[in-house]
Amino acid sequence: MTHIVVIGAGQAGASFTAKLRDLGFDGRITLVGEEPVPPYQRPPLSKGYMLGNMALDRMFLRPAAFYADRDITLRLGARAIAIDPDARTLMLADGSSLAYDTLVLATGSDPVRLPAAMGGDLAGVYTMRRLSDADALAAECVAGRRMLVVGGGYIGLEAAAVAATRGLEVTLVEQAPRILSRVAAAQTADWFRALHTRHGVTIHEGAGLAALTQNAGRITGARLTDGRALAADFAVVGIGIRPATQLAQGTGLMIDNGIAVDAFGRSSQPGILAIGDCASFPWRGARLRLESVPHAIDHAEATAAALMGAGAPYIAKPWFWSDQYDVKLQIAGLNATYDGVIVRNDAGAPSHWYFAGRDLLSVDAMNSPRAYMVAKRLIEAGQSPDPVAVADPSVPLKALLPG
Ligand code: FAD
Repeated sequence: MTHIVVIGAGQAGASFTAKLRDLGFDGRITLVGEEPVPPYQRPPLSKGYMLGNMALDRMFLRPAAFYADRDITLRLGARAIAIDPDARTLMLADGSSLAYDTLVLATGSDPVRLPAAMGGDLAGVYTMRRLSDADALAAECVAGRRMLVVGGGYIGLEAAAVAATRGLEVTLVEQAPRILSRVAAAQTADWFRALHTRHGVTIHEGAGLAALTQNAGRITGARLTDGRALAADFAVVGIGIRPATQLAQGTGLMIDNGIAVDAFGRSSQPGILAIGDCASFPWRGARLRLESVPHAIDHAEATAAALMGAGAPYIAKPWFWSDQYDVKLQIAGLNATYDGVIVRNDAGAPSHWYFAGRDLLSVDAMNSPRAYMVAKRLIEAGQSPDPVAVADPSVPLKALLPG
């Protein structure tokens, strides 16, 4: 009987196995996951779960019975350590091995850590990737304590928002000249800086971290490159992630900003596919890697369908979201090559529209689901509205859509 083994029991791995059964695959499926828990949602780790608003059982993507009912074997707490692509065998850390016909790498990403020389190994220093990280952090999040956030990207800002809401004293340090510098325009950064400042978060931009300071192996604060000293009881480090490609590297798979796959999820080795955060795929003549739940699901499902013979190439429809305080940010499209931003304000719900020339690339919509929906429809249809009309809130959003 054909055996499909998926490494990585996260969003993409779970979506892939479910889709495979939906499409009628009747062979064996094994989902191997390093973490000791069934597949769960990661976004609430820096949102509702960290806030204490979301119980553990709501984190799981499916009830345990789902996998049993579909005859999907879960191997949890099992780390894959090596692949032998010629023998089509996978080695696990416990010394056992698994033979496969098709192997799917869905290993996600690893957070970038501060080097030990800068205090990255100190007690009280956390990254945010796993449930176990969030649980350890929860014990530190007590009102009145001082949290340092290193990195002003979305994960760092979300952690700051939760901690400030829980009554902690929060200081965020960003070494770039402004927060969100890799992912958003200055207009969006300005808007979120003002939001956090209103909630009492102190933000230092253009402030390099020289090192975390310590006493008896536990963080006491930070020293900045300009000589300033900050006190902190604990720290969250959100300075980016890297695709988890270690396993693939040992097998000679082509790596190019993640495991390089074609439009059908196939890697450079026959019988090995890759999906989700860990994979880069063809996109407009180049390669793209996305780190988002919608992509993990769509990529997994498209790759499962391709494996079952559907024959349709994967075409990403990038979108993303972030929750901070009472603000839902929704992002449609990718802004990488923008040269101008139009700001629109619909009754206190702003949206920032990124253009390259007259071509609409993406939109950041703050508490404006309508702006998001209109932008998403335009971008997916490859159409661009008149920038003058975009900037004018007296022109209804719907009127930006082609007639
Ligand atoms: P993952 O969900 O990370 O799953 C990979 C799994 O593989 C992990 O469980 C890992 O333990 C396992 N694994 C790795 N190596 C091995 C091995 N050798 N053996 C066995 N198992 C292994 N996205 C959004 O769209 N919106 C958001 O608001 C958002 N917020 C986020 C907040 C946080 C705190 C984090 C961490 C992520 C957030 N994301 C968000 C990103 C989103 O969660 C990821 O893009 C998505 O989970 C990717 O799915 P994946 O299956 O590729 O990887």
